[in-house]
Amino acid sequence: MRLRFVEGAKELIQANPELIINNVDNKMVNFRKLFDNNFPIHIEIGMGKGKFIYELAKNNPTINYVGIEKFDSAIVKALDKVLENPLKNLLLLRMDATYLKYLFEERSIDRIYLNFSDPWPKARHAKRRLTHQNFLKVYQKLMTINSEIHFKTDNTDLFNFSVEEIRNYPMRITYLTGDLHHSDFEGNITTEFEEKFIKQGNLIYKLTAKFKEA
Ligand code: SAH
Repeated sequence: MRLRFVEGAKELIQANPELIINNVDNKMVNFRKLFDNNFPIHIEIGMGKGKFIYELAKNNPTINYVGIEKFDSAIVKALDKVLENPLKNLLLLRMDATYLKYLFEERSIDRIYLNFSDPWPKARHAKRRLTHQNFLKVYQKLMTINSEIHFKTDNTDLFNFSVEEIRNYPMRITYLTGDLHHSDFEGNITTEFEEKFIKQGNLIYKLTAKFKEA
């Protein structure tokens, strides 16, 4: 059953190349050309089913969004939303974040969102966490000067790890809360995971951070 579902997902992805880029060869993508404007580019890595980035894109027509997700089975849910109501400023990209540097030009991303990233609790998997310093290094190259990373999670260990990684890197934290939903942060857009965790009574952590200029 699962195999059949995934097969269907692959076909749907392949049938809609103007809405979703299916990375198969790690080739550089000219996002500027695809969006055909000079608006800033914001990306979400690990967007899952895409509620968050779809809402952002709808609310902010002068920002371009790229929603990145590695699993066909999750990204087709985002594709369903886009097929129902396409947005000129939203592109989906099926790929693993490990290959970011091959697809994005240096200094081409104006903001990165990481929402409820996989915690990878085992120490031997720490390098897979999307806030590991190896990833920060890549983000630094790809992001424009003074741009921000926005990170949300309900996972205390992943949050503490991320704060440490950021503090040990030439970065500075520009905002931090241990309880986003009772904080002064305005205009929060919830993600699918966030909705689930709020219902369970979990607190949501959020931070934003910038790279220090050399
Ligand atoms: N952001 C969504 C989903 C969170 S779950 C939400 O908050 O609702 C984490 C998601 O990140 C999963 O869908 C997983 O497949 C994706 N993901 C994890 N590691 C990834 C990677 N290296 N590259 C791309 N996507 C990744």
